[in-house]
Amino acid sequence: MKIVKTTAEILSLLNQYNKKKSIGFAPTMGALHEGHISLIERSKKDCDITVCSIFVNPTQFNSQEDFKNYPKEINADILKLQKANCDIVFIPEKSNLYSENEKAREYDFGILSSVMEGKYRIGHFNGMATIVEKLLNIIQPTKAFFGEKDLQQLQIVKELVKKEKMSTEIIGISTIRELNGLAKSSRNKLLTVKQKIEASLIYKCLCYCKENKSLGITKLKDYISTIFNKNNYVALEYVEFVSLKTLQPIQSWNEDNTNAICIAAYVNHVRLIDNIIL
Ligand code: AMP
Repeated sequence: MKIVKTTAEILSLLNQYNKKKSIGFAPTMGALHEGHISLIERSKKDCDITVCSIFVNPTQFNSQEDFKNYPKEINADILKLQKANCDIVFIPEKSNLYSENEKAREYDFGILSSVMEGKYRIGHFNGMATIVEKLLNIIQPTKAFFGEKDLQQLQIVKELVKKEKMSTEIIGISTIRELNGLAKSSRNKLLTVKQKIEASLIYKCLCYCKENKSLGITKLKDYISTIFNKNNYVALEYVEFVSLKTLQPIQSWNEDNTNAICIAAYVNHVRLIDNIIL
């Protein structure tokens, strides 16, 4: 596996490959887990060359404390990527991607970015799209892989690629979970064993909705609020029943597989998100 640290290096490396080879790309912020590795595995299946980037993007954090505390495990990450047979890992410095004092670009993703994460993490999607656009422009991948765990991010990246007329195909990958159902996340590394057990409440609620869809959205929403209110470890930030495509709230179910339930919750200071598509 090639480890590259500058834009010039990765451009020159990618230039050496035959232009007919397909490139698969998985952007990450490191502290890698099986969720990230599943993106690499899918890329290995679909594409000739797989590139993973590791960059904790400062412009997408709306809290300095969250940015400062974000887990960093670069040596372990490199070993995991080697084991997954990733071809190239790109680990740029901030100065390589941003000019001095550069801020996130201001995008207009319309209704996609005004709800849920867009509402609770002001500026997050501008920061995320800024870095994804930069990375896609550098790597020019045939396909880029994003987790469904960050459902709103996935939909916004699809919109970004459409708006900017990029040729990369965006592929969504199913959420990988802990045995108790908790979605794998780099932030789980900040939780104690007890907190991880309690945090599985998020997925339990999503599963309850799947099993009791016929109760209807109002009752299910009330049920989730009540269950979270009773739990002393996990604090609900929002639960939204939305259309998968538009991410706008729904009052009743649409066709199967076109609805999503999205939850954001805090365990102590650690913010977790998850969703299910129904
Ligand atoms: P992050 O490092 O958290 O920015 O995530 C990098 C990519 O991995 C994003 O596309 C995420 O949606 C994806 N990802 C994170 N967690 C999971 C998971 N549990 N299952 C599948 N994909 C994931």
